[in-house]
Amino acid sequence: MIANLKRLAVLGAVVAGISGPALASDILITDVTLIDGTGAPPLAGASVLVSGERIALVSPSDIRKPRGAIVIKGKGKYLIPGLIDTHIHLRGGTERGKFINDRTLAIPALHTFLYSGVTTVNDLGNNPEFIFPIRDDERAARIVSPRIFAAGNAIGFPRRTAEGGGVQITGRNDVRGKIDAMLGYKADMIKIVYDGTDSLRGEMVDGFPGLVRDIVHHANDHGTMVTAHIGGREDFKLILDAGINTFAHAPIRDRLDEATLKSVAARRVPISTTAVVFSNIARVADDTSWLDTPLFHATLDEKTLELQKVEERQRYRTSGMSERFKPLVDNMLWNLGALHEAGAILALGSDRTYGPMSLQEIELYAKAGIPLLDCITIATRNAALYLGREHDLGTIARGKLADLVLLDADPTANVANFATVNTVIKGGQIIDLKALDLPVNRKGRK
Ligand SMILES: [Zn+2]
Repeated sequence: MIANLKRLAVLGAVVAGISGPALASDILITDVTLIDGTGAPPLAGASVLVSGERIALVSPSDIRKPRGAIVIKGKGKYLIPGLIDTHIHLRGGTERGKFINDRTLAIPALHTFLYSGVTTVNDLGNNPEFIFPIRDDERAARIVSPRIFAAGNAIGFPRRTAEGGGVQITGRNDVRGKIDAMLGYKADMIKIVYDGTDSLRGEMVDGFPGLVRDIVHHANDHGTMVTAHIGGREDFKLILDAGINTFAHAPIRDRLDEATLKSVAARRVPISTTAVVFSNIARVADDTSWLDTPLFHATLDEKTLELQKVEERQRYRTSGMSERFKPLVDNMLWNLGALHEAGAILALGSDRTYGPMSLQEIELYAKAGIPLLDCITIATRNAALYLGREHDLGTIARGKLADLVLLDADPTANVANFATVNTVIKGGQIIDLKALDLPVNRKGRK
């Protein structure tokens, strides 16, 4: 009987043309409040059927349970697409300004994302010898991990060290070679840096933004999008006019003007938001209580939390970084609010290394005055647009990859409810949250 069911499941998978890594059961989620990521209002009493790695059916009411399907009772719960963080730097590829290759740091860090409901991450700067093999292992289902997309080196961002995955360019003629090296790794995205010295705008490179235009054409010809790190409004405008595909940050040095807001919205160039990286540096000087949420304690060990609260805090205080960043954070939040208002495509991006910080990023949208339903779209559909993967990811619709998060409480009622993760499904497989390599699962096991 079981053998028969299995054979039927295989047959179904073949007929549907699905190439899932493992033979998964169908999953039926019943009577759930559906928030599909498109911005449509929440729909109570909905059902979602997952077959293989994809969503087979979305219904406003009941669906007949297929034989052998796993049923998840959704009553009183909220189903959202798996969150996508479009800007992280995975731990284990750099340390103290040098490239390293340490998977023992990477795997627990990846698990912090899954535990927080983040089913896709995009690494925007790392040691290529570290990040691309991990990405390939994820795609081959050899590791338990969110989906990984990666840029490899940030081209022109060494500031004399490898921090942020930077690789130094020696001049205009060096740029193409650096980009081709990343294309050789099948980079999912090219990241360039256009922000002061050691970047494409640095003193060693002339002829920008024409150079940026060439880079975008070259990478796009190879089917790869180009994202840019920028700091201020003027660089943002120049890069936008040069035809950049996406931005790795919203501007922080100053506020965008009306014409630029309109222009970036009209061109539909997605922007990874990255407010939390600056906000945390600014606020850690005055307050570390935000590191004491249940989610942080579940996912980060005490040593890592202590490091943030004591050493990092001291460094940011004495260096004056915290004070310096405070007005910048105000600019950043103002820009995010204004960009959203103008109809620009904001995409969740934390520029951090742990899942709870992706959720902190969403909290900052709320602080910028963005409605919570729109925050979900920013963290799902818009992030998929950023990656150029909107056909597969980011919304709950028939045919999309089944990356889903079931929440115990309504994320449109309170931003803190994003942390009420009940069940995480990636590619039609239920992630065993209790098996993740995280402090919450290690407690009492000694
Ligand atoms: Zn970054």
